[in-house]
Amino acid sequence: MSKVLIVGAGGVGRVVVHKCAQRKDIFSAITLASRTKSKCDEIAAEIKDVTVKTVQVDADNVPALVALIQQEQPQLLINVALPYQDLTIMDACLETGVDYLDTANYEPHETAKFEYSWQWAYHDRFKEQGVMALLGSGFDPGVTNVFTALAAKKYLDVIEELDIIDANAGNHGQPFATNFNPEINIREITATCRHWENGQWVESAPLTTKRVFDFPEGIGPMNIYRLYHEEMESLVKHIPTIKKAQFWMTFSDNYLKHLEVLQNVGMTRIDEVEFQGQKIVPIQFLKALLPDPASLGPLTKGKTCIGVIARGTKDGQRKQVYIYNICDHEACYQETNSQAISYTTGVPAVVGGIMMVTGQWHAPGVWNMEQFDPEVFLAELGPMGLPHRVVEGEWPEL
Ligand code: NDP
Repeated sequence: MSKVLIVGAGGVGRVVVHKCAQRKDIFSAITLASRTKSKCDEIAAEIKDVTVKTVQVDADNVPALVALIQQEQPQLLINVALPYQDLTIMDACLETGVDYLDTANYEPHETAKFEYSWQWAYHDRFKEQGVMALLGSGFDPGVTNVFTALAAKKYLDVIEELDIIDANAGNHGQPFATNFNPEINIREITATCRHWENGQWVESAPLTTKRVFDFPEGIGPMNIYRLYHEEMESLVKHIPTIKKAQFWMTFSDNYLKHLEVLQNVGMTRIDEVEFQGQKIVPIQFLKALLPDPASLGPLTKGKTCIGVIARGTKDGQRKQVYIYNICDHEACYQETNSQAISYTTGVPAVVGGIMMVTGQWHAPGVWNMEQFDPEVFLAELGPMGLPHRVVEGEWPEL
């Protein structure tokens, strides 16, 4: 039985609290800490049969985090604040000897740079302290890494090509909104695209490579666009047979039209501009205007389908396998008051936490998801709400 400290009371934080509370057999006590205590209190009030303690904390402040951890004495800290806070929270975990888990790689405020270098640099210090950090335990990154590890363990001898494909076939009826934190989401989508090919990263302009993919189980064909996504970095490092790795995401024409206009007028800029004697960052101002992703929960209908197609060889024969999950927005909302984007991130965070506190995945140091046994993780993930399907077949090259 373990005490868990959750940092961040946004869309994902809400799901993490609901799901930890469902697993009283594992998590004996839950503390939720975030910048705005009233948001923690609102989430805690939704949990009926477990008391969730709430605390205000500034997660940019290492001494404040250390004091909080020393007061709460958790076995595990689940970081579902923003990527900007990853390093301060890792510092506090190192200082207090508490295991750490997150769902997104560190990003500095000033550049939209998606890479693990900053967090991987903590590996030796975590190892020496006997503390574990599990990076990217959301869906993508997260479950997509685990699906790839499963393909490598069970279905292919050698993975040569990998396509990670993320569809949100849901609809919230708003003219323009993002399904998770708008600032983080737009920084990711408007960044230069990179994919892995023959041992190097190949750059292209964002959202310029488009394909149509026929999604399973009635979702049908949708436009997918190539993006850079952080799990490719760790996957090509840890599975070096991968010659080509690409990440694809669906966007509606309407979403892309709005994004293009916002970009053209400078509203997605992440640098400071002078406005009426004050410095503002346009993307932060835009975030204040857009719908709060949490408000989309009751409005969103439809499904998500996120998975990987791994292609390579088995017993000398060419083989392909598609491993995916389908998740229903309305069912997620009924269960946790959150839509499927937050749900598909929060559930794997809790399952990653279960892996760590039960010792099924435990080693001092800083790790990515594909470095552990995928089957024990997936054995928990299905019953926790995210079952997966494995289909062997043939799909057109993307
Ligand atoms: P939200 O913006 O909804 O929530 C973020 C929370 O963190 C808010 O409660 C916010 O507080 C809090 N926070 C921000 N800064 C601080 C700080 N300095 N100190 C304390 N608390 C702070 O984001 P989401 O819930 O949508 O996303 C959470 C994380 O999940 C992000 O890192 C995101 O990138 C990641 N993610 C990962 C995915 C995956 O599949 N791997 C998919 C989707 C998201 P306040 O309420 O006061 O603003």
